[in-house]
Amino acid sequence: MIHDEHPAIANSLWTATAPTPPERPALEGEVEADVVVVGGGFSGLSAALHAAEAGLSVVVLEAMTPGWGASGRNGGQVNPGLKEDPEAVVARFGEDMGGRFVRLAGDDADYLFALVERLGIDCDPQRGGFVQTALNAAGLGPLRERARQWQALDRPVRAIGRDEIAELLGFDAYAGGVVHETGGTVQPLKLALGLAAAAEAAGARIFARSRATAIEPQGERVVVRTAAGSATGRRALVCLNGYGDGVHDPLRRSVVPVRSVQVATEVLPRNLRDTLMPKGHHASDTQRLTTYFRLSPEGRFVIGGRGRFDDARVGGDQAALRAIACRMIPDLADFAWPYAWGGSVAMTLDHFPHLHLLAPNVLSSGGFNGRGVALTTAMGRVLAEWAGGKPAEALDAPVTPLRPIPFHGLRGIGIWATIQKYRLMDRLGI
Ligand SMILES: Cc1cc2nc3c(=O)[nH]c(=O)nc-3n(C[C@H](O)[C@H](O)[C@H](O)COP(=O)(O)OP(=O)(O)OC[C@H]3O[C@@H](n4cnc5c(N)ncnc54)[C@H](O)[C@@H]3O)c2cc1C
Repeated sequence: MIHDEHPAIANSLWTATAPTPPERPALEGEVEADVVVVGGGFSGLSAALHAAEAGLSVVVLEAMTPGWGASGRNGGQVNPGLKEDPEAVVARFGEDMGGRFVRLAGDDADYLFALVERLGIDCDPQRGGFVQTALNAAGLGPLRERARQWQALDRPVRAIGRDEIAELLGFDAYAGGVVHETGGTVQPLKLALGLAAAAEAAGARIFARSRATAIEPQGERVVVRTAAGSATGRRALVCLNGYGDGVHDPLRRSVVPVRSVQVATEVLPRNLRDTLMPKGHHASDTQRLTTYFRLSPEGRFVIGGRGRFDDARVGGDQAALRAIACRMIPDLADFAWPYAWGGSVAMTLDHFPHLHLLAPNVLSSGGFNGRGVALTTAMGRVLAEWAGGKPAEALDAPVTPLRPIPFHGLRGIGIWATIQKYRLMDRLGI
């Protein structure tokens, strides 16, 4: 079970199948480092690793334990690219910055798997390819256009039709889709714990149960306070994504936290599991309300999708996911679903991840819009480069002004109304 979490979203397959992490101390007293990282998910841990490997001294402050947030709970789908297609990224950020951002995102799955291999992280990596599915002919057009744009950049992305998608997934539910050949899967909590261990091996100090309560730029330095101490650095990186809190309220209000939930079956018998995604692919659909699915390393069917923030009612969303899975693959109805869990993703209004300078020596990263396993890991290198002195405009991702979302407190109601509307439209195929 995920510790210190509501039971309705705590029963995680990944927690059950990861090794028990080492106890890490809470920060007590005052420490100094070149870089102070706030948040111990993929973003913060990868940034800490890259900064430490570059010779900087690093302290990480994590409110709970490393990987406790989205990084230890997600679908483990290593999906290259951004939500937006390459040409839209370039149109938005210009040829130079847009081009660099597209390369960072287009190559992020390669980057993650190379990092895992270099560091020998035991996280069950598998590179079957990422399939984005379209339910009907109307959904195929944008996917063909996506494939065209990536092919123009020499990336292995191709459109497929009904027969091939049925063959790759092992069941016939979609009109077609695209395959991103560089995609794959990992056990996400094992990846987070492996990044934490690698960062420590490179010299970073990680403090658990050390929630930052204030970030105070003081001249050339920045002081990050916790209940029992403080960490002072030349630069701070704030990596909270969908778990932003009062430590920086405008940052918290610049993203919309949205719940994503997952369920997993018992281990399926070999004769069934060999028919599902037989070449190791995983998939995510392109309905307005995305569902995503894969097999776990030991052969469970794992499916996820949007959930509500009301913990008492999230069971209904998990039941809906089980029903979707059994509709697609009727044989799954014969098996138990012993795991159900969830977490927060951070959405932005423009669908792009955001880097913001909160002060001249404080950079935040977040808003990964449910597409963060590969990108946060690659973004860690970008964050570390800034911490090492690279100017913001020379980074491979755009640094944009921080804009809190108006009426942020009411967004939850709006999101739920939108989800109901989109569910209906998806069901009607319009
Ligand atoms: C259920 C689910 C399924 C998903 N599936 C996928 C998927 O299959 N593929 C994909 O690409 N993406 C997926 N995502 C999104 C992906 O997990 C995230 O984009 C990514 O993990 C974000 O990493 P992060 O390090 O930025 O944030 P997080 O991993 O959320 O880490 C933020 C950390 O900050 C800590 N924190 C908060 N406040 C403070 C404070 N004041 N002081 C110190 N620490 C603090 C939190 O405890 C937390 O550990 C999914 C997300 C969820 C929730």
